[in-house]
Amino acid sequence: MPAVIIDGGAIARKIRARAAQSALALAARGERPCLAVILVGNDPASLSYVGAKEKALAQAGMLSVDARLPEGSSEASVLAAIERFNGDDKVHGILVQLPLPAGLSEGRVIAAISPEKDVDGFCPVSVGNATFGRPSFLPCTPSGVMEILREIGAVVSGAHAVVVGRSCIVGRPMAMMLGARGADATVTMCHSGTRDLARHTLQADILVAAAGRPGLITADMIKPGAVVIDVGVNRVADPSRESGYRLVGDVDFEGALERASHITPVPGGVGPMTIAMLLENVAKAARERAEKKEGKQ
Ligand code: NDP
Repeated sequence: MPAVIIDGGAIARKIRARAAQSALALAARGERPCLAVILVGNDPASLSYVGAKEKALAQAGMLSVDARLPEGSSEASVLAAIERFNGDDKVHGILVQLPLPAGLSEGRVIAAISPEKDVDGFCPVSVGNATFGRPSFLPCTPSGVMEILREIGAVVSGAHAVVVGRSCIVGRPMAMMLGARGADATVTMCHSGTRDLARHTLQADILVAAAGRPGLITADMIKPGAVVIDVGVNRVADPSRESGYRLVGDVDFEGALERASHITPVPGGVGPMTIAMLLENVAKAARERAEKKEGKQ
């Protein structure tokens, strides 16, 4: 039987509706959720991601403010924008759109975000807290994957999860979340130094591909009945399209359909979940502020 194709758009819509409800309730408590977005330069992909995030915030009844800094901006000016938003009571979350132009240290810039406003969950304090199982913001893309697994009723506890990729944005936090107490998967994290990738992926009850390599995972690398989550977003040439390209994941989708029990398509799988989880994190930041003000923390 072909795999069930997971509708990430439908799951994301539910989460966005939940975030919109939270925004309404928080506004009534005087804390309308607000995200500050810092964008440096004119990278077209970054511009389009920021636009999509700001549109989603508005649709959920949340506010956004942005600092658009020109290409060639100094690190000091980026840090100054972060400091301004750190100290702004109306701002609940701060997001720096990555990648930053060459010459700016992503590590130093992200570390400057106040942990209670770190809705991307990338700053060292958030990563440390999450690693120790303490309350923290969790990165949006892997959180979205966990939400998908919950939604489809995948058995995570006791499962063998294999994550292909170890970036700080996707692979590493993904492996951490799957293996955390409560999720309880047994996790293997693969990377470009992994010898015989297929030997690992073939053992995966849950396979998360986050390598950014089109076609890396072929059908013969998938354990029959596995849940396959394809995080990869890759442009491949397609002269039949007006744009000249199409988006594909890291998994040979057609082949995998015959092996997996469930699979996320690209686009329309993990992608829509990332923005939905960002809205959840912004609402969470505003809720924590409201509770602090009301003396509940
Ligand atoms: P990175 O390039 O930062 O990391 C890729 C990871 O994959 C690295 O750890 C790399 O290993 C590993 N890798 C690369 N080639 C291989 C290989 N042949 N075998 C095994 N491992 C390999 O990418 P990101 O983590 O930022 O993103 C991964 C993908 O997910 C991209 O396609 C990106 O576009 C997509 N993405 C999608 C999002 C969404 O919302 N759907 C959000 C974020 C990312 P090593 O560490 O050894 O170099």
